[in-house]
Amino acid sequence: MADSVLVPRPGPKSRPIGRPNEKKPGFLMVSACLLGRPCRYDGQSKKHPLISRLDPAVILPVCPEQMGGLPTPRPPAEICGGSARDVLEGKARVINREGTDVTREYYKGAVETLDLARKWGIRYAVLKEKSPSCAPSCVYDGNFQDRVRPGLGLAAYLLQKNGITLISDEEVSETLLRSIMLELQS
Ligand code: SF4
Repeated sequence: MADSVLVPRPGPKSRPIGRPNEKKPGFLMVSACLLGRPCRYDGQSKKHPLISRLDPAVILPVCPEQMGGLPTPRPPAEICGGSARDVLEGKARVINREGTDVTREYYKGAVETLDLARKWGIRYAVLKEKSPSCAPSCVYDGNFQDRVRPGLGLAAYLLQKNGITLISDEEVSETLLRSIMLELQS
């Protein structure tokens, strides 16, 4: 029964989703800003009402941009001249709004995110859409015009390329999160 994965707590609003299985714990990688951590470019978070209710014991929070050495706050950046794959192959760059090439930092953050995922045996990652690092399906188009196009962030691309299933913050539901937690414990 789906409810068996819930930690019993009073009040549905404060009830965490998911509980680690002591015999076989599985961890879910999550963009840290979705959990309420103020790591975004503007120093804010993007706390998600469902994702932030996941039991902290089953979550591996990551912020590839901070892991790449970028400060918070920082100028927003976009993938310019190609895709995440193009960036990793040296055919495109990540440029911030001030015109500074930050490809090196984004690359470092993506590689470190993949290293963590491998270390922890991550199978699923819930990631923030539109981010040049985390986006699982659409990113800004590189013109700083607030327009999006299909594509992945650098870290998301590396995770997916290495067999990790990506889930957009824009598609999560309580049912989906419960089924992932059950899957992680199986
Ligand atoms: S890099 Fe990812 S986790 Fe960090 S602020 Fe951007 S979207 Fe959130």
